[in-house]
Amino acid sequence: MQTATQRIALITGANKGIGFEISRQLGQTGHLALLGARDSARGKAAEATLKKEGLDVRFMRIDLNDPATIKAAADAIEAEYGRLDVLVNNAGIADPNADGPPSKANINAVRRIFDTNFSGTLAVIQAMLPLLRKSSSARVVNVSSELGSLARNSAPEWEFAHVKLIGYNASKAALNMLTVQLAAELKDAGIKVNSANPGFTATDLNGHTGYQTIPQGAAEAVRLSVLPDDGPTGGYFTAGRTEPW
Ligand code: NAP
Repeated sequence: MQTATQRIALITGANKGIGFEISRQLGQTGHLALLGARDSARGKAAEATLKKEGLDVRFMRIDLNDPATIKAAADAIEAEYGRLDVLVNNAGIADPNADGPPSKANINAVRRIFDTNFSGTLAVIQAMLPLLRKSSSARVVNVSSELGSLARNSAPEWEFAHVKLIGYNASKAALNMLTVQLAAELKDAGIKVNSANPGFTATDLNGHTGYQTIPQGAAEAVRLSVLPDDGPTGGYFTAGRTEPW
């Protein structure tokens, strides 16, 4: 049951992996978690699982590549809640088979990855911004990756130096640019915007090769979703530490 003081969070790509766990953890801290998912059956299944755990959650159909679903979700949030307090832009894709180093990556795969990870996220932000402006202390968290760090990509000794996926890595670097520009634009509106790097986490995205658990991967995005009013904005963080751009 939604109350006047309960914070409302929208999480994209919430039907599985890190987004599902971010939703669970925000639900456990008392949020109403709106579970964005592009597939209704998968979204409803996630909703049923978290409801069984006693959490206040609701499936909302959002496909980052389908503007009509984004608008319909914004309209529904406006009609039913009148505001949005937290937006976690978690949905994302990778395609390590077709993506690759600049000399080899399939250009259509690169376009597809950018369409989701960058343009789709920007579209969600633009649609939700009027609702975030109605919150007294809104938070936007862009789920990035250390693979999006120009500094890390330039360092030959870096642990992931061999992962040169121009589509994926550049889409997360572009997402980081969105964090910086949006944070600057919203500085005086009381809306904090930050990039979270989950760390290498065992999910479908990487065939479960990551060495962190999903709760560990969700933790940084959750921390940035509940930042106090004197917390940072325009930052890029891994486990509470600043990540180099
Ligand atoms: P995942 O298990 O593959 O989950 C990705 C989620 O995004 C799924 O719910 C998926 O929905 C959704 N999604 C994909 N395209 C979408 C679209 N067009 N519209 C709406 N939803 C869409 O991957 P994950 O590891 O949890 O990844 C979550 C985020 O963390 C991503 O942004 C990823 O880049 C980032 N990240 C992950 C790691 C890691 O090691 N796992 C590290 C750094 C960053 P479907 O189920 O319908 O496909």
